[in-house]
Amino acid sequence: MRRKIVAGNWKMNGSKDLVSSLVGQVRSELAPLDNGVEVVIIPPALYVSDVVALAGSQIAVGVQNVACWDSGAYTGEIAAGMARDAGCSYTLVGHSERRQLFGETDSQVAAKVDRALASGLGAVICVGETLEEREAGKAEEVVSAQVRKAVADVGAEQWQQVVVAYEPVWAIGTGKTATTEDAQAMHASIRAVLMSLGAPADEVSLLYGGSVKADNAAALFAQPDIDGGLIGGASLSAKDFVSICR
Ligand code: PGA
Repeated sequence: MRRKIVAGNWKMNGSKDLVSSLVGQVRSELAPLDNGVEVVIIPPALYVSDVVALAGSQIAVGVQNVACWDSGAYTGEIAAGMARDAGCSYTLVGHSERRQLFGETDSQVAAKVDRALASGLGAVICVGETLEEREAGKAEEVVSAQVRKAVADVGAEQWQQVVVAYEPVWAIGTGKTATTEDAQAMHASIRAVLMSLGAPADEVSLLYGGSVKADNAAALFAQPDIDGGLIGGASLSAKDFVSICR
């Protein structure tokens, strides 16, 4: 059985006020919900401890990025082990904003996946093509290469910690969503890639991300290979986020 996951990526948004208003509300509204969905909140790292303190046992917490190293003279970086120590159970790795704005390479992504898994975190590996790549008919090729490189060093016993989030770059924060057919087709293709690598592909949760909202989540999540979502903008509203989790 694959885990169903809805993860809210706050990106560089939020404040102590938002933590106290939003996390409490999400928690109380989700309390009666028992649809087997694992809910994850991924705030800026500075607020992780505040979110952990309010989250209760029903909400997991994650960070948006970790370092390629365990400790040492890397000013400004946060190690996966520190995130774990602070109460996180997940980290995003290779979000397209990190790849595009901060020049994160496939080999850094692989190193971060390695550190995350070794520290006991779940790694939500983000992959996705640009509009140019999709229009050139290269979407599957690009995504498949990103997946292969990111999981190159995953050990046989570590697959249960791996989650892949397909986020077409052109759909992030733009209000444009992939059609349910296109999203399902890419998810099936990612699962086939994982299978070809010898992973227990049927057990790896694959999330869709990119302008998921309360009104399109149900159709996307109903697809056979879409096991949940990675939510940006809509995760900053308790009402929208809860309705997506529902
Ligand atoms: P969005 O962001 O939902 O605002 O499009 C998704 C993401 O970047 O994870």
